[in-house]
Amino acid sequence: MLVQLTYASRPSSVFTPDDLASILTTSQRNNARVGVTGVLCLINGIFLQQLEGDRTEVNRLYHRIVADPRHRDPALLDFAEIIGRRFTSWDMGSLAPVAANRQIFHKYSRSTAFDPYSMSSVTLQAFFAELLANGEWIA
Ligand code: FAD
Repeated sequence: MLVQLTYASRPSSVFTPDDLASILTTSQRNNARVGVTGVLCLINGIFLQQLEGDRTEVNRLYHRIVADPRHRDPALLDFAEIIGRRFTSWDMGSLAPVAANRQIFHKYSRSTAFDPYSMSSVTLQAFFAELLANGEWIA
């Protein structure tokens, strides 16, 4: 069964672009092996990640990720069966810190600060759909 899982968390300490690059490299290697696709964003000091793939593999990966000491306050925001993947071309994509993406964050925010912890499932789905259509990506 194909599922999609979305969670948010906060870096445990100051997170550098190199730290993020290291996680992306590991993710791309591991996720490709188990057929998990998705995206990892670090926006305003909050991680937002969407994972897609086989239910067993996504569950296993999520439990490994939440045990990682590099982040804290993990919150499962959405978990659902899906008919097809949204992110077919990335083993784990990441967003570029550009103005175009900031406009997308603003569009789906209740306030000036982007806060995925407070977003509904419906808003999250619309947000990720727009990121895929109009977002600018690093990888
Ligand atoms: P390796 O890079 O070989 O790491 C080996 C061990 O060292 C792991 O236990 C790791 O947790 C630990 N480690 C490595 N670097 C550090 C560090 N700087 N500080 C503390 N501990 C460290 N992994 C995926 O496979 N796919 C994902 O999509 C994914 N997304 C992630 C998203 C976030 C926000 C975070 C924080 C981590 C994510 N990870 C992801 C990493 C995951 O938590 C595991 O670290 C990784 O999957 C372990 O795989 P490995 O043994 O091949 O990694």
